[in-house]
Amino acid sequence: MIITIDGPVATGKSTIAKRLAESLGFIYFDTGAMYRAIAYGVLKNAVDLDDDTALKAFLDDFVFNIKVRHRKKIYCANGEDVTEEIRAQAVTHLVSQVAAKPLVRDKLVAIQRELAVGVNAVFEGRDMGTVVFPDADLKIFLEGGIEIRAQRRLDQLIKERPEEAKDLTLGDMMKEITERDDFDSSREISPLRKAEDAFGVDTSDLSIDEVVFQIFECKDQAKTKHTSPEEEAENRK
Ligand code: C5P
Repeated sequence: MIITIDGPVATGKSTIAKRLAESLGFIYFDTGAMYRAIAYGVLKNAVDLDDDTALKAFLDDFVFNIKVRHRKKIYCANGEDVTEEIRAQAVTHLVSQVAAKPLVRDKLVAIQRELAVGVNAVFEGRDMGTVVFPDADLKIFLEGGIEIRAQRRLDQLIKERPEEAKDLTLGDMMKEITERDDFDSSREISPLRKAEDAFGVDTSDLSIDEVVFQIFECKDQAKTKHTSPEEEAENRK
């Protein structure tokens, strides 16, 4: 079974996807981390994003792995542990430009579909329900007010990278995430949008548990929708 969770910045996708996966005994994949790992590599190797030949050469050599250590995910790019580095503001500022490149998306979409073979998983990102897994069993689209999302993102940065957060105001963060969401929503390839058959959940005023509870309700509704009358009769036996 595949569950997809999409949505703009700081709607709680990672936290919710992780919690949902834990409660279902599923694997969880943060596909934003994959785009961030490539953006980190692009920065580190000074790859010219406008030079498709250079970008393709870089991507051909790019190996992405996920390891688990002490129940924590470790993201590796070409053998280097980049788990912390991919959260740096320099990466955040570049990642949307990198993610808009068809060569990059082709590479990562293939990896994501491979990871999904034969497993029960929650995939979180921007195009999981629309492009990568159009036949997913359950699709969720998280939304939220700009101010609360900016506050969450700022709090997270203060906790994880205090040096980078110290000069940032809530206003700066609102501007930053609005720009990133606009860029992600207006790109030509796989723009951020809600799949027609996705359930929308507004996380602005909800706790993590409340969001997960709503998703379980959506899961029940999706099951009813997908079950034929014959299957329902069979289930009742
Ligand atoms: O989720 P996160 O904020 O870490 O994602 C970083 C960026 O990666 C997004 O702003 C978007 O540009 C890109 N992304 C994407 N498709 C996905 C996941 C992330 O384009 N499935």
